[in-house]
Amino acid sequence: METPLDHLIKRLSRLPGLGPRSARRAALHLLKNKQAMMLPLAEEMAAVAHSVKDCVECGNLDLTDKCHICLDHKRDDSRLCVIEDVSDLWAMERAGVFSGRYHVLGGTLSALEGRGPSDLGIERLLTRTAAPEINEVILATSATVDGQTTAHYIAERMAHHNVTITRLAHGLPAGGELNFLDEGTLAQAMRARSKL
Ligand SMILES: [Zn+2]
Repeated sequence: METPLDHLIKRLSRLPGLGPRSARRAALHLLKNKQAMMLPLAEEMAAVAHSVKDCVECGNLDLTDKCHICLDHKRDDSRLCVIEDVSDLWAMERAGVFSGRYHVLGGTLSALEGRGPSDLGIERLLTRTAAPEINEVILATSATVDGQTTAHYIAERMAHHNVTITRLAHGLPAGGELNFLDEGTLAQAMRARSKL
């Protein structure tokens, strides 16, 4: 019979980057540090799970309906950066290379995984980019096949909008994903972005 501890290890092993072996190590570490680690972590997890939500505007995660970036009046309304995932947004913010607005797709188009335009909310993106204040849309999806396909699809759908469409200069091996870039490379890719 499986014990609650087995269940915990099984759940942990489904986290990205953890397999059964690291899950066992993590569980054991938590159990050995119950007061200092395990209980505070459990409380924080519950609190964050209940309070964090998707930003209605850009898809970022925050405590408010609109995230702190969307609410920040000092950011540049004329530029919109389209990314695959919230982790990419965090990478951009860490690198401090972009002061405009974001749009998180939540993935890429993928024939293999059966993800189409409606799954990514492309219509909502097109509504946003049709706004008169937007001058430039930066398609910062990864340099993977799916990332490239997604960027080209969006660019095509946006062709009649009065915006400049750019793509990050990926100074990285093909297949590279944005959130794995170090900050210098990301800054360079942003500076050297080119028209699509
Ligand atoms: Zn937002």
